[in-house]
Order: sequence, then structure tokens, then C-alpha cells
Amino acid sequence: MKEIQVITGCMFAGKTTELINRLKSTNKKYLLVKPALDTRDMENKICTHDGVFETGIQVKRLLDISKHLDDISVLGVDEAQFFDSPIIEDIREISSKGILIILAGLAKDYLNKPFGYMSKIIEMSNSVTWLKAKCHQCGLEATYSHRKQRDSESQVVIGDAEKYEALCENCFKKHVKS
Ligand SMILES: [Zn+2]
Repeated sequence: MKEIQVITGCMFAGKTTELINRLKSTNKKYLLVKPALDTRDMENKICTHDGVFETGIQVKRLLDISKHLDDISVLGVDEAQFFDSPIIEDIREISSKGILIILAGLAKDYLNKPFGYMSKIIEMSNSVTWLKAKCHQCGLEATYSHRKQRDSESQVVIGDAEKYEALCENCFKKHVKS
């Protein structure tokens, strides 16, 4: 049975925490991977914004862990928005082996544009959970990731609370001209 679950939303919405909780609650053997470019964390550790640590493997693409596929029932993928296009075929391939795949990632970037292949991954999935954060400026429900410094226009700028904040629609629109 093919099953692909997606956990998405803006930054600081607790996506990684939800991913780790879901992996643990399967009570099955799982592996957690994240893209090799996320240098925010220590190597092979995945750290959530609320300080939970979990061991994960840094990979360039999901099939880098193909030798482990016979040993696991569940694959967790953090920061899925940073993976390149092979992620689509890799998800199909891994899923076809009966492995449950749970992916967490940002659906939208700091300009509220689609991030990486997340839209495609959401289309392929059986279930999508949208998590919300609390607006950093007014405390209402936040669904936008706002980059506080505009020193780079690149979609991929790794950073945490020093560089990003979660904003509600109103506060986001005050900062970003559409
Ligand atoms: Zn707000």
C-alpha cells in the first residue's frame, strides 16, 4: 500500500517536531533523513526549534539510503523543500517498496512562492497536515515565513530565528510589496 504523508506550513510551525512524533508513534523501524545542505544543525542531528534532537542522516537525494530500505518500514524526510527534482522519482521508488514516507517541509518560501518540489510532493501525497505558527509581531495565527534581512535574494538562505520570523497575512503584507 502506497502511503505518503506531508507535514507543511510556515517556519516555526513545529513541522520537525510533528515529524519526529509521528515517526515515533508508528512503533516501526524508521530512518530520518535531511538534505545535506542544511548546515544549521550539527551533522547527523536534527534539531527542532523547541530543542528536540533526533538522529538523522544527511543525504543528497533520498535514494542515497537505498541500502537501508530493506531494514525500515518508515522513512522520515525533514526540510523536503531543499531536495532537487530526483526527489519525485525517489519518493515513487521508495513508496513502491511499501515503505511509508512522511515528509516535512516548507510549502512556500519567504516571498510566499512555492518552495522546491513541495507542491508536486503534496499532489502525490495521501494526506497533508498544514501547521500554523504564532505571528511574531501580533500573536495571531501565522502562515507566512518572513526573511528579516534582505541581504540575499536566493530562495535558499539557511537560518533560524535570527534571519526569519513567522507572520500572519496582515503583518506579512506590511513587509512584502506584492
Ligand atoms: Zn501579525
